[in-house]
Amino acid sequence: LTAGLAPASAGTSRAEYQDPSLPVQQRVDDLMSRMSLRDKIGQMVQIERDAAGPSEVADNRIGSVLSGGGSTPESNTPEAWADMYDRYQRAALDTPLGIPLLYGVDAVHGHNNLRGATIFPHNIGLGAAGDPKLVQRIGAATAEEVAATGIDWTFSPCLCVARNDRWGRTYEAFGETPELPKKMTKEITGYQGKRLGEDPSSIMATAKHYVGDGGTTGGEDQGNAQLSERELRKIHLEPFRKAVKRDVASVMVSYSSWNGTRMHAHEYLVQDVLKRELGFDGVVLSDYDALHQLDGDDSTLTASEVRESVNAGLDMIMLSTDHAKFLRLLRQEVESGDIPMRRIDDATARILTKKFEMGLFERPFAQRDLLPTVGSDEHRALARQAVRESQTLLENDGVLPLSPEEDEVFVAGSNADDIGNQSGGWTISWQGSSGDITEGTTILEGIREVSDSKVTYDERGDGIDGSYDAAIAVVGEKPYAEYEGDRPEGVRLSEEDLNTIAKLRSSGVPVAVVTVSGRPVDVSERVDGWSALLASWLPGTQGGGVADVLFGEYNPTGKLPVTWMRSYEQQPINRGDHKDPLYPYGYGLSYRS
Ligand code: BGC
Repeated sequence: LTAGLAPASAGTSRAEYQDPSLPVQQRVDDLMSRMSLRDKIGQMVQIERDAAGPSEVADNRIGSVLSGGGSTPESNTPEAWADMYDRYQRAALDTPLGIPLLYGVDAVHGHNNLRGATIFPHNIGLGAAGDPKLVQRIGAATAEEVAATGIDWTFSPCLCVARNDRWGRTYEAFGETPELPKKMTKEITGYQGKRLGEDPSSIMATAKHYVGDGGTTGGEDQGNAQLSERELRKIHLEPFRKAVKRDVASVMVSYSSWNGTRMHAHEYLVQDVLKRELGFDGVVLSDYDALHQLDGDDSTLTASEVRESVNAGLDMIMLSTDHAKFLRLLRQEVESGDIPMRRIDDATARILTKKFEMGLFERPFAQRDLLPTVGSDEHRALARQAVRESQTLLENDGVLPLSPEEDEVFVAGSNADDIGNQSGGWTISWQGSSGDITEGTTILEGIREVSDSKVTYDERGDGIDGSYDAAIAVVGEKPYAEYEGDRPEGVRLSEEDLNTIAKLRSSGVPVAVVTVSGRPVDVSERVDGWSALLASWLPGTQGGGVADVLFGEYNPTGKLPVTWMRSYEQQPINRGDHKDPLYPYGYGLSYRS
């Protein structure tokens, strides 16, 4: 007997599927032979935790639960997450076949819904760092923190290729070329380990959003990508090909459309290209309530939406509510023959295969011995290293690096002392928020830590006089996620930020501007008067990494993962008409060569 395996109850012999010494395929076949239609279609549902408690999940034989965006337990502690997870898992195991659940979250820059977890830079910063080994280590560290709380599955990495930074999800991209996300698929190996389930800290990764989400016209979230098949393949499909080679466990389909057809109904791209041509054998997951959009009326789920998406190759459907209705419609479509039984069997087998590979039948509960890794010093040091490597220096007249011993600095700006702002969206809540939302070091605190000399702070720059060696203005965007971050008119600094910078400038002190933002900010009219410009992206909880670069503890190496245009008239970049950007893709200065 394998240690930890529950012994079969007296008098009953263990079923083949319960025997971990047998090959996964054999276990799947054995289990499927015991399952009713009800059992199988239940596996195809992923329901929002808020909409169904453990017993409801068990009664409907539901295969998976998620905490979408930021649906956290009431007391948002690691223990509360682990307890919640175990309650669901116990209920699932207490059904006749005892099939364990998969629980998924959006751990897209660390275990970002959990207060106190290590929050790493968002992908745009990791694209600037351009270091696949670092990203693999970040994946592994995130997986430890996630698995500690029981969670089995992250909806990450986002492999979108961001072609227009009006798009509110630009920061979830590693960059604007397919090469960056391709390289960064190493994160999948970090999350999953060399082999899925190889150890207790292995979690399932998700390559998303399949395909072309970053190529929509005007950078509109959930919009339409009007592209030739050649362009779609060359630019947007390539990272997914690489993810499949790395054995990614799941792929999430995009809300967007390709040439007018919704991805969730795209049988050619899902069944033919992803599953057959690329040979993807994992779970194809829908996006959140995406089926509801297929018929045009977002609020009602219809039989044709269920039929089209399942026949297009969707294996698991992510739902906020409506699981009972979905199950009823799915059963009806199967019984009428409009969805072939072989499609249901394919979907069920894919889901069960991952559950066996993950070792969930043998190791169903939270990995509590990993709890000390949550927000650990080691993980925070890794995050700080990632912040250092992501800083991208765009202008410098010699004011940087500052001297930690000698230079007296005045710090100002709306993003200088705010953990929420420097972490961005997908932090504690879906949209993120300003303020003291989790533990970490703000950029100002980092500066105070690194500098041995006088540091004065005023958010709006009031009280500055000409006696300082330098002023640092930390400005930029406030948190947002998805379509709420779409900026059709372009991304500009707020009046408040501009006033702060003007005040600092009028003192005569050299001003270094640090942008905390998910994408390039339109600075072209003003940058001439600034002594330095440093793009910090969305660094997460370890603001000390920004200070390390400002004070020369680390010589900047970040390179622009997206073109920094001179003005928004130059967008979109996917027309290839970027003749004269302010800073080109790949640009980034150092202190010495
Ligand atoms: C997003 C996905 C995310 C899902 C679950 C959707 O709105 O598009 O990226 O994984 O929500 O939170």
